[in-house]
This record gives sequence, structure tokens and C-alpha cells, in this order.
Amino acid sequence: MFDKEFLEKQKERLKKEKEDVTKLLSNFAERDKEDAQNWETKYPDMNHSDIDPEDQVDEVEEFVDLLPAEYALEVRLKNVNEALKKIEEGVYGVCENCNRPITVERLEANPSAKKCLDCLEM
Ligand SMILES: [Zn+2]
Repeated sequence: MFDKEFLEKQKERLKKEKEDVTKLLSNFAERDKEDAQNWETKYPDMNHSDIDPEDQVDEVEEFVDLLPAEYALEVRLKNVNEALKKIEEGVYGVCENCNRPITVERLEANPSAKKCLDCLEM
């Protein structure tokens, strides 16, 4: 469906994105030892006796703020991995909703796109 050159290019971009997202995740999350796909957000260390209670409250707030960001990165990583798998399986660039091919323009804008623009707007 797509030419080999395009697929190779997308593969490189996906691998690069995977590296970047993994790096970002490792800034505030630890890889789950049981499940490499799952990341645990590092909980701030609360055991410092020299931190006054006000600072502790700030740390908890920061932690809560991090959760959506971690989740978004995890989803991105999952999408990237799925797209790489699809390239291997020769089913890359097919809309998961309507099974029609996703346009090259859209895949260039977002290599891990799972749906065509029509389905995305629904
Ligand atoms: Zn579609």
C-alpha cells in the first residue's frame, strides 16, 4: 500500500519518538519491573524530616500534576509501539475504525496515527 521508502522513513521517525518519549518518562517515572510497558510515577520522598509541612503540600500537588502528563506519555509510547508493530506486520496506515488507508500527509504529520481524519472528526 505504501512504498518501502516511506515505511522506512516512518519507522525511523517512530523509533526516534520512542526514544524521546522513553527519555521523558524516565524523568519522573520508573519502569515497572513486572511489565516493561507500564510506568510508575515516582512518588516524592516524604521522609525528609527537614522539610516543613508547607513544602510537603507542594510536593503532593506537583505529583498530582504529573499524573496526566505521565499518562499522556504512556499512551504516546503505546501508540508508537503499535505503529512499529503494524509496520512489521504490513498493516501500517490502515484506519482502525473504517479500515481505509490513512493519507500519507496525515501519517507524515503523526506517524503513530490510528485513525483517518474522517474518523477522527466523528
Ligand atoms: Zn477511518
